[in-house]
Amino acid sequence: MKDQDATEVILRGIGGSPGICIGKAYLVDKEGVDVVKQYVLREEAVPAEVGRFKTAVKKAQEALRRIIDETPEEFRQHAQILETHTVLLEDKLLYDRTIEVIEKEKVNAEWALKKVVSLVKPMFENMSDDYLKQRAEDITHVSDRIMENLVGADQVNIAHIDKRVILVARDLSPAETSQIQLERIKGFVTNRGGRASHTSIIAQTLQIPAVLGVGNATMEIKNDDIIIVDGKAGIVVVNPTEQTLLETEERRERYEIQKALMVRKSHLPAQTEDGIRIPVMGNIELPEEVVSVLDHGGDGIGLYRTEFQYLSRPDFPGEDVLFENYKDVIDVMGDRPVTIRTLDINGDKAVNYIRDTRELNPALGLRAIRYCLKKPEIFKTQLRAILRAAAYGNVRILIPMISGIAEVEQAMAMLDEAADSLIRQGFAYKRDVPVGIMIEVPSAVITADILAEKVDFFSIGTNDLIQYTLAIDRNNRHVAHLHQPLHPAILWMIKRTCDAARAKGIQTYMCGEMAAEPLFAPILLGLGVDELSMNPQAIPMVKDAIRSINTENVAPFIEKAMTMTTCAAVQELLERSFGEAVGRLEPDLEEL
Ligand code: PEP
Ligand code: MG
Repeated sequence: MKDQDATEVILRGIGGSPGICIGKAYLVDKEGVDVVKQYVLREEAVPAEVGRFKTAVKKAQEALRRIIDETPEEFRQHAQILETHTVLLEDKLLYDRTIEVIEKEKVNAEWALKKVVSLVKPMFENMSDDYLKQRAEDITHVSDRIMENLVGADQVNIAHIDKRVILVARDLSPAETSQIQLERIKGFVTNRGGRASHTSIIAQTLQIPAVLGVGNATMEIKNDDIIIVDGKAGIVVVNPTEQTLLETEERRERYEIQKALMVRKSHLPAQTEDGIRIPVMGNIELPEEVVSVLDHGGDGIGLYRTEFQYLSRPDFPGEDVLFENYKDVIDVMGDRPVTIRTLDINGDKAVNYIRDTRELNPALGLRAIRYCLKKPEIFKTQLRAILRAAAYGNVRILIPMISGIAEVEQAMAMLDEAADSLIRQGFAYKRDVPVGIMIEVPSAVITADILAEKVDFFSIGTNDLIQYTLAIDRNNRHVAHLHQPLHPAILWMIKRTCDAARAKGIQTYMCGEMAAEPLFAPILLGLGVDELSMNPQAIPMVKDAIRSINTENVAPFIEKAMTMTTCAAVQELLERSFGEAVGRLEPDLEEL
């Protein structure tokens, strides 16, 4: 969406991570690769065009060779796939046929390559042999590399950007976002992305303002345009007027001051007016973020998304690397709880060295515990590392995406096996740690009473629970408006989970993004959630909100809220009942 002033243009998207930044735009990808046009060549231009194609292939080969050479010795065998790509670059099917098309049809190299790929790829895709089927993906990788050289699109490595800029991209994967250098990148804007996407979660953890799902950002914004990113309102102002700049700068300062004030109070306990203490924990993706949890007054780690350690490597990490990593986090946290979630890969966190899990519908595919149970050796390596690290602190284990009791039983059996193997080999370890499950699949809510018999705690993952209950892809901007935590179905699911847990004497925590909204604190406490965990920068505000609540007022509120039939009605009741008490940060740009 776009509003136009005399000179400035306002683009609207989804608030991905709060905060305001002003700076120069830096486009990290070009649209060129997708929009290949056909040109007919004069006869005499054909040899030069063939030469241009050959140069592009050569450049791609050199780039691949450099990557292979730079791969550390211990991972060399895994660079094999890149070796395959270097061979594919000169494969007759691709190389010779593209040259043939340029020569025979007298068309530009981009068009010829595109045509050949569109013929060759389905040949692989339609093969019955799974291995050969997957080679279709290699054809895409290889042809993209050549195409980028032909159209001159930059392959930008986010980790290497050395300017103080605001990134503008079609999309940023969670792994790319986690590589952002905070001292250089002020914020980012993407065409794609939805509410509660992992990209937005990481931006929040990094405290970097972000607007996602703008749709046309890479078309409307040019390199070096001055832009304002308001990550709370989900607004980007392109080429703002002097007046807007001045007002925004003032607002940015006010926001920072308020935030600093809030952080100052963050070390006070989150205790309700009537004396009930609620632990408020932090979610982390990488060990370095532990400091931020402590700085923001977190009582522990409520969710350690361990899969990020797997995303930024050329291969699966070994047990010792994982052990050291977990121990680093545990050492910093002392006796505070550290909830280590086992691998939640795939879905939108695909690891590029897993070659056999290309799926049409990854969110419903071989993700998280499903993947781990299919790959026991990978799971066991992680479980052994966690049990070894558990000997050094206050560890809880959390298993993601449980959909039924069988998965819990299998995971527990694997934990026992991991422990047994550690005893046999004489390692120090601790098996007696609380083991809980994420409640993020509707079937887990429905069978919560059965699951509660087998585990020590529940942790509700609202990001996925909303995705799977309301059938809303959390990465899809077109349905972002439907991602509603206050939907009556979600509230009833939370209630059912908490009731089932309480009846069996275990606690229910929440580590989905819903826990990070201060205004939702009364409803969550009222429904029976015992502990909240969130991106670190949200901790001070949520603690503040809890301090303003008197639980005596919560029970009658819940009774009323659970009779409401729409999100809007619940929201209105919440605002009316607790809006004033729950202090909120500065309003957004829309109010300018
Ligand atoms: C969730 O689904 O709410 C959750 C906390 O896990 P993740 O966001 O990593 O899927
Ligand atoms: Mg989840």
